[in-house]
Amino acid sequence: MSTSSVHDHDSGEGLVPVEEARERVLSQIKPLQPLQLPLHEAYGCVLAEDAVALTDLPDFASSAMDGFAVRSAEVAAAMPTSPVELRVVGRALIGQRPDATVGGGEAVAIATGAPIPAGADCIVPIENCETSGDVVRVLTGSPPDKHIRPSGEDVKGGEVLVPAGRRLGAPELGLLATAGFSHPLVHPRPRVVVLSTGDELIPPSQTPEYGQVRDSNAFLLFGALREAGAVPTLAGIVRDDVDDLRETVLNHLAQADAFVSSGGVSVGERDVVKAAFFRRGDLDFYKVAMQPGMPQGFGHIEGKPYFGLPGNPVSVFVSFEVFIRPAIQRMMGRTTLFRPEVKARLDTDVTGPKGKTQFARVRVRRTREGWVASPTGARGSNLISTVSRANGLAIVPAGVETAPAGSRVQVIVFRSTED
Ligand code: AMP
Ligand code: MG
Repeated sequence: MSTSSVHDHDSGEGLVPVEEARERVLSQIKPLQPLQLPLHEAYGCVLAEDAVALTDLPDFASSAMDGFAVRSAEVAAAMPTSPVELRVVGRALIGQRPDATVGGGEAVAIATGAPIPAGADCIVPIENCETSGDVVRVLTGSPPDKHIRPSGEDVKGGEVLVPAGRRLGAPELGLLATAGFSHPLVHPRPRVVVLSTGDELIPPSQTPEYGQVRDSNAFLLFGALREAGAVPTLAGIVRDDVDDLRETVLNHLAQADAFVSSGGVSVGERDVVKAAFFRRGDLDFYKVAMQPGMPQGFGHIEGKPYFGLPGNPVSVFVSFEVFIRPAIQRMMGRTTLFRPEVKARLDTDVTGPKGKTQFARVRVRRTREGWVASPTGARGSNLISTVSRANGLAIVPAGVETAPAGSRVQVIVFRSTED
C-alpha cells in the first residue's frame, strides 16, 4: 500500500489533530436528562442515582427444606432409638402467613420457601422425621438456625443495591426487580436521526442507473448506533438541496436527541450540509488530521448535537468510532467512553499520509506471541468491504508514514474477536 499521489493535506498543515477535534466535540456533549423508565426499557441504561434497599432482602426468613419448624432445644437429644414426639399444630405454605405459631412440644409442617412461623428456630428436614396423624417423631434434631434462610441474608435494608453510574445489565435488572425498583431513574438512550445526503443516492432495494449509488451509510450508521446503545431513526435520503435538508432536520427536531448526516461536508458547491448550516453559524466545519474521515462538521441545531460526517462509507465508519460513539456513551451517562485497545504486531507494512493519524482496518487475533494485526485491504475510504472483514482499527500516528511489518501498533477493537 503506497501512495501514488500526494495530497495537499498529507503534510498535516492546517489540520486539527484527532485528539483536539474529539475534545472539541466531547466538551459540548452532556448526559441526557434522567428519566424514570420501566425496568425492561432501563436495560442497558446508566443508573442516575444510587438505588438503596428500602428493606432487607429477603424481607422474611424462610425454610430451605421441606420438613418441620421446631424449637431446636426440644429436639437436641433426638435419636432414631429415642425420637422426640411433637404435636403438629399447623402448616406453613409458600406465599402465605403460617397458620400457627410453634409453642412448647409443638411443630409446624413447612414447605421450602415458606415463611418461618414464630416460635421456631430451626427446621428438621422431612427425612429425619416420621409422622402419624398430627404427631411427628423427630429422629435426628437440628441445631439453632439450621435450614433457615434468614431475612437480610442477601442485602440489608439501607445498603446500596446498584450505585449511580452503573450500566444496568441482566443481574442489575434482577436485583432492582427484587427490591421493588420498577421504574429506576436512568439516562435514556439517545434518539438519533440519521440522514443521507446526495443526489446520486438510491435505497438499497433499487437498481442503480449508471452513476447512482445505493445508500449504505444510513444502514451502517443504524447498526453502529444500535450497537452503541442509541435508538436510531432513518430519515432517509435527502437531495443536495439546502431547503430540503433544513426542512428535514427541523421536521425531526421533536423526536431527536442528536442528528447524524453523511455527505455534503467538503468544499464542493454541492456540499449541502455546509451550505445549510454553516452560514447560520450552527455548525463548525473543520478538517481533521485523520485518514479516513478528514472533513467533519459538528455543532448544535436548536440545542441538539449535529454530526456532519463525510460521505464515503469507510470515513463514516471511522468518524463514528472516533467522534460519535464516545459522544453517545457520554449522552447515556457513561464515563467509559472509549473502546478497549490492544497492542498488536503488524504482519504487513501499513503506509499512510504522514501528517495524519491513520486508522487502518485490520483483523486482530491473539496468538501465543501476543496480538497480531493483518490489514484487510487497501486504504481507499470507499472500500466498505475492508471494514466488514476487520475487527479493529490500527492507529498509525501522525508523523509516521509507514508502520513496518513487525512493529507494534495500538488497535481499537470494535467487535469481539470471536465474531
Ligand atoms: P460527498 O462527501 O457528499 O461528496 O460524498 C463522498 C462520496 O461518498 C461520494 O462518492 C458519494 O457518492 C459517497 N456517498 C455519499 N453518501 C453516501 C451514502 N449514504 N452511501 C454510500 N455512499 C455515499
Ligand atoms: Mg454528496
